[in-house]
Amino acid sequence: MYLREKRDALLELDLCDRCLGRQFAMLGHGLENYERGFIARTVENLKEDSFVDRDPPEMAHSGEDCPLCNGLFEHLDQYVDQVIQALEPYELRTLLVGNRLPQEIEQAEEEIWENFGEKHAEPTKTELNRLVGRKVQTKLGVEADFERPDVNAILDMKDDRVELQVNSSLYYGKYNKYVRGIPQTVWYCKECGGRGCEKCDYTGKKYQESVQEIIQNDFLEAADGEEATFHGAGREDIDALCFGRREFVLELENPRKRSIDLDRIREKLNGYQSSVELFGLEETSKDKVAEIKEKKADKTYRAAVRLAGDLTEARTDEISGIQGTIRQRTPKRVAHRRADRVREREVYWINAEEICRGVLDLTVKAEAGTYIKELISGDGGRTEPSVAGRLGCEAICEKLDVLDID
Ligand SMILES: [Zn+2]
Ligand SMILES: [Zn+2]
Repeated sequence: MYLREKRDALLELDLCDRCLGRQFAMLGHGLENYERGFIARTVENLKEDSFVDRDPPEMAHSGEDCPLCNGLFEHLDQYVDQVIQALEPYELRTLLVGNRLPQEIEQAEEEIWENFGEKHAEPTKTELNRLVGRKVQTKLGVEADFERPDVNAILDMKDDRVELQVNSSLYYGKYNKYVRGIPQTVWYCKECGGRGCEKCDYTGKKYQESVQEIIQNDFLEAADGEEATFHGAGREDIDALCFGRREFVLELENPRKRSIDLDRIREKLNGYQSSVELFGLEETSKDKVAEIKEKKADKTYRAAVRLAGDLTEARTDEISGIQGTIRQRTPKRVAHRRADRVREREVYWINAEEICRGVLDLTVKAEAGTYIKELISGDGGRTEPSVAGRLGCEAICEKLDVLDID
């Protein structure tokens, strides 16, 4: 169908200027669809290059009697207010506005496209998104973000409401842990799955405190958020200390505030408790989670090792000889959740000193993923070589701390 014929046929439908112009939306630049509609209506011999700025009226006809939009575009300000009201509890910097059109409009549009073709046309949904989105952004002074806006506001005309999809906010930092006996993340009671039972004294938790909870509470309060997820770059054992400044990302769900004072949170947290120390907080993006999870960092550990037999000075040299490549079969203690296989790991250096009869002060620097407790005990021959193997006696890791993370 030639452009002019298509136009003539469309004119029969009595569309408003916006809806008429939207059928030619891909033609011409810098025009609003109602301006295209005015051009389509008034240029007798309509061609593809007719769509240039011709001083159309301020606002063309877009009344309730339009069979496509039913006057939808006359209520733009009302929709804008509706979206702004829904966003009221949220502080945001970026936004994306979407919509769900009433079914009558979707059907009417499909029918027009079936009969007259959709070449050059823009969907009604797209124009409405653009117009409402632009006005809301200007009024609130926020930017559009098509990738990951702070909030995605969907104007649902089917149910006459605004649906908000609030994206999480993420904060990157490092921590040290100075007490034993607390896990890195919240550890729920196995018996009740967190609901609370006799076994957990109705707390729902196996451990009453965790690095995550110590850190997240002040964040949740400052951001007025609902829940948090803690992503650590690896984790130390519950009974291990960490001096290596371990990286983490804290992710807050449904935050109402986004510009929170990170220096204040850090100073406050480091001031009123001494179990965990925070370093260098900054806001970050979702990619950071994968980045710190993938990072394989070599670590330096310090362990207190108890031996079953006696040890003479000469034999601590045996331990230094472990340096080099070791082979570790998946430890018994994690075999239920990890694939059973043999891994090669690098021990960069290892030193031991007998601090009293049968007790060693051991420091070791090893490749990411080395199981240190097993490097000491030998894990029934699964780790080779090991401290126990070299000394020919039982060796048990009683304390393990992370001294440094590369
Ligand atoms: Zn219309
Ligand atoms: Zn329980």
